[in-house]
Amino acid sequence: MRNKKVIVIGAGFAGLSAASLMAKNGYEVHLFEKNNIPGGRVAIWQIDGFTFDMGPSWYWMPEVFEEFFAQFNKKVSDYYSLSRLNPSYRIYFAENDFIDIPASLVELESLFESIEPGSSKKLKEFLKLAEYKYNTGMKEYVIKPSLSVTEYFDFSLLKETFRIQLLQSLKNHIRKYFSHPKLIRILEFPVLFLGSTPAQSPALYSMMNYADLVLGTWYPEGGIYKVVEAMYKIALENGVQFYFNMPVKSINTKNGKAVSVSAGSEEYFADAVISGSDYHHTETKLLNSADRSYSDKYWESRIMSPSSLLFYIALDGKVQNIRHHSLFFDESFDDHASQIYGNPQWPERPLFYLSAPTQTDSTIAPAGKEILTFLIPLASGLKDSAELHEKYFRIICERFYKLTGNDISGKILFKRSFCLDDFTNNYNSFKGNAYGLANTLSQTAIFKPKMKSKKVENLFYAGQHTVPGPGVPPAIISGQIAASEAGKYLKNHL
Ligand SMILES: Cc1cc2nc3c(=O)[nH]c(=O)nc-3n(C[C@H](O)[C@H](O)[C@H](O)COP(=O)(O)OP(=O)(O)OC[C@H]3O[C@@H](n4cnc5c(N)ncnc54)[C@H](O)[C@@H]3O)c2cc1C
Repeated sequence: MRNKKVIVIGAGFAGLSAASLMAKNGYEVHLFEKNNIPGGRVAIWQIDGFTFDMGPSWYWMPEVFEEFFAQFNKKVSDYYSLSRLNPSYRIYFAENDFIDIPASLVELESLFESIEPGSSKKLKEFLKLAEYKYNTGMKEYVIKPSLSVTEYFDFSLLKETFRIQLLQSLKNHIRKYFSHPKLIRILEFPVLFLGSTPAQSPALYSMMNYADLVLGTWYPEGGIYKVVEAMYKIALENGVQFYFNMPVKSINTKNGKAVSVSAGSEEYFADAVISGSDYHHTETKLLNSADRSYSDKYWESRIMSPSSLLFYIALDGKVQNIRHHSLFFDESFDDHASQIYGNPQWPERPLFYLSAPTQTDSTIAPAGKEILTFLIPLASGLKDSAELHEKYFRIICERFYKLTGNDISGKILFKRSFCLDDFTNNYNSFKGNAYGLANTLSQTAIFKPKMKSKKVENLFYAGQHTVPGPGVPPAIISGQIAASEAGKYLKNHL
């Protein structure tokens, strides 16, 4: 009997995860990727001895990676060397006013106490609840496909604390424990990874504070792309067949079933299709309108996560007074957030983030040189232009100089910007979003676009637009859930 054939679209983390698991379970897996390398938004740019991670820079939730590799009887250490950063990151609040977040909990408690007397005890309580949410969430909820509300009808599963924590906002939750603006800023920052604001996010997501402050910020030597290389190797070892520079042009259906995809000049037959490309792209560009699960109106009403303006800079010489990760929160968080979500426009006084991995890794640039990657979060769907990139580059350079004392203007060997139009062109991203859908309450779990098509019975979706949401660990988990759903379907239907 022939092996059942599965086609996976997109070699991002979700596609790689789904493809490897399907192949391990004995399916013949063909993965089509539009670009010439695997990784999707976790892209790499290598030039003149510099290695730039173009997407993620924060390695959180290390157990998710370990658990994924364990399914193939491998360990993270078989592929890359991981170390915990200490301090985890720095936050600038104003000139000569910054805080380093220590890896040690004892030091973190002293830091909190020094800012707001009595807060160390509250931090313990806050993190205990966050730990409970994290552990329960990761064990019981995160692996659910969220196809139906009935998955949550077992009230022994939907625990009391969970119900309460879904109904109040993270913003209010944090303010019940802390009042100093700096502590609030520290605790509200991780929710930005969910592409949302503290006011829009359920208190449930304080589990991200546990991930941040307790589980820690890690770094794979050589850069985040080492993780893509590892995932790609696992996929190859399990027999996944890759087709790069091969964008899928259509998913062809017959009687409510996907029968093939068209890519290049050929048609490739499939028993099931898992799409890891952006959901909106798959629906609107690869399927006939009759096969779409969601209308244009639905997509227009979605709150997308922010896009970003990124600058990748190679510097001649080193900069002082910064960390591997530095957050510049010296301007109003609320103003910038409202220019992303409430009244989308290019921000007047942007907050920004700097990744300077050469502060801890000497293998990714020539000796004595520095890599700086600046990121400004932006509303998705804005008009993009090279002039705007230059305008914001000047703003950032001035602020960076003012806050850290580093004048980089005469030291730049080369720089490259990446923004809304690049997200659209490189990844077929809807409105140039960087992280998929915002994880607001009305777009969480069963309220996300479904992992299984409503119209095409053997078409499944994975990736940051589906459950559990944005970020590398969730994308890996999402690939696992999609593979499990596709596997169940194939066992029962063919
Ligand atoms: C700038 C930036 C910074 C980030 N920082 C962090 C961080 O620090 N930590 C963290 O955990 N997460 C971070 N994220 C989020 C994280 O990178 C994403 O959530 C995750 O990588 C998404 O993976 P995915 O597989 O869902 O999607 P993608 O990585 O976008 O993969 C989709 C793939 O589908 C391909 N594709 C599209 N259309 C087609 C087609 N027609 N045919 C074939 N292939 C197609 C695309 O080329 C792409 O390779 C960041 C993201 C960005 C952009």
